[in-house]
Amino acid sequence: MTSPENCIFCKIIANEIPSKKVFEDEALFAFHDISPVAPLHILIIPKKHITSLNELLHEDIDLMGQIVLRASLLAKEFGISDHGYRLVNNCGEFGGQTVHHIHFHLLGGRHLTWPPG
Ligand code: 5GP
Ligand code: ZN
Repeated sequence: MTSPENCIFCKIIANEIPSKKVFEDEALFAFHDISPVAPLHILIIPKKHITSLNELLHEDIDLMGQIVLRASLLAKEFGISDHGYRLVNNCGEFGGQTVHHIHFHLLGGRHLTWPPG
């Protein structure tokens, strides 16, 4: 699997690959998706390289809580909280995960269909 050395999201965190950053603190990084599927499409990632939900450890509980809270705060900041939005994690091949550094898609600004394709 992907290691931090060849991980594109680790490179984005390190500013080795440019991104449109919307938030950063000691634990998290958030930026606009390069191929948005909704009017607002932000990716929220931990700075810690975790490959997917499958590799999550008990020690990552606080980190996951920070991500969910940050999604809520970014949704308010970007004006999508009143109409509603979706926070999505794709895990593994069948989940459609293409980047193997855990990330959460914050999607909003249009009516989202359910179930997803
Ligand atoms: P996944 O399919 O793994 O859940 O989502 C990966 C997401 O990362 C995709 O929505 C894709 O558009 C986005 N992505 C892939 N490479 C880059 C990149 O270099 N920059 C940005 N901003 N987004 C990327
Ligand atoms: Zn990584």
